[in-house]
Amino acid sequence: MTRVFNFSAGPAMLPEPVLNRARDEMLDWHGSGMSIMEVSHRGKLFLSVAEKAEQDLRELLNIPDDYEVLFMQGGATLLFSLIPMNLAAGKVTQYIQTGSWSKKAIAAASKICPVEVVADSSGTGYDRAPAQATWDTVPDSSYLHYCMNETIHGVEFPFVPKGLDCPLIADCSSNILSRPMPVNEFGLIYAGAQKNIGPAGLTLVIVRKDLLDLCPDSIPDVLNFSKLAASDSMLNTPPTYSWYLAGLVFEWLKEQGGLEEMEQRNRRKAQRLYAAIDGSDFYHNPVQLDSRSLMNVPFTLADSSLDTEFVRQAEAAGLISLKGHRSVGGMRASIYNAMPEAGIEALVSFMAEFERKSA
Ligand SMILES: *Cc1c(COP(=O)(O)O)cnc(C)c1O
Repeated sequence: MTRVFNFSAGPAMLPEPVLNRARDEMLDWHGSGMSIMEVSHRGKLFLSVAEKAEQDLRELLNIPDDYEVLFMQGGATLLFSLIPMNLAAGKVTQYIQTGSWSKKAIAAASKICPVEVVADSSGTGYDRAPAQATWDTVPDSSYLHYCMNETIHGVEFPFVPKGLDCPLIADCSSNILSRPMPVNEFGLIYAGAQKNIGPAGLTLVIVRKDLLDLCPDSIPDVLNFSKLAASDSMLNTPPTYSWYLAGLVFEWLKEQGGLEEMEQRNRRKAQRLYAAIDGSDFYHNPVQLDSRSLMNVPFTLADSSLDTEFVRQAEAAGLISLKGHRSVGGMRASIYNAMPEAGIEALVSFMAEFERKSA
């Protein structure tokens, strides 16, 4: 068996020790004679898994007691609609547009409530997180939404917005758990699982309890944050296997030393890769230095006619899924928690060799 280095943006690489453990526990979970996917979500076996996962997540992210954690379905995409459905409360909402994902969030919200786009970096090709001083905020809004890490454009906010007069909401699908985050400064944080948490099918929502009073009774219960919280995310059958696997990832993260340690590793990995890109005229990353993502590193070749050959040779060398998103072209290396430093070394060596051969 050979495992490759998989640079996919999502579903993405999972830590190998987690996959090994899931395999070992597959047929007989903790002496039960069953796999954890075969048991009732309301029975004590699964409830122990569910509660441990939430506890470990709370520890990792230092989530205060006045926040609920929801284990939902529907992906971050459903949240684009559920956030305004639950929390707009008849007022205007504020959005920051910094790339494809925040743009989609804006389009979804626009069908549901009044939306004010208070900052927009499309004019400079989504190359930055606009400084808060440049935002054109409006008063009396229900919340301000932004995408903390734009997975396609490789733009990550280097700051948490401060001093707003409304709750702050962040799409953290591609950077949650990559470093510590001040959860207490947010009204709501959400993330699809398949990038940095676990397998697809699970969506995490961390929401301040007082906001749940805003959720209108008119929306379906399974889409209502307040109802989901009251039922411990078990209004109906949750994605039990994804929840279990996310729990194994949380345990792995704790064993690694938690999110402070992950941040150090992730900074080393990203710096190594950006240094290789910046140190050459052959490769280029378009994002402003202070807004570069630690998780998703897009880059182009000086001669784009070599793109296909780059991807082909990389694959032959065991470096998978480096093709950029179809909307921006070029290449993209997604380097989430599960990507080991050896994967970055292998990529950087391959890039140097490819440049040398192409010169
Ligand atoms: C992948 C991604 C999404 C969409 O996630 P789904 O789970 O496919 O709905 C939304 N926002 C960001 C930042 C993403 O990276």
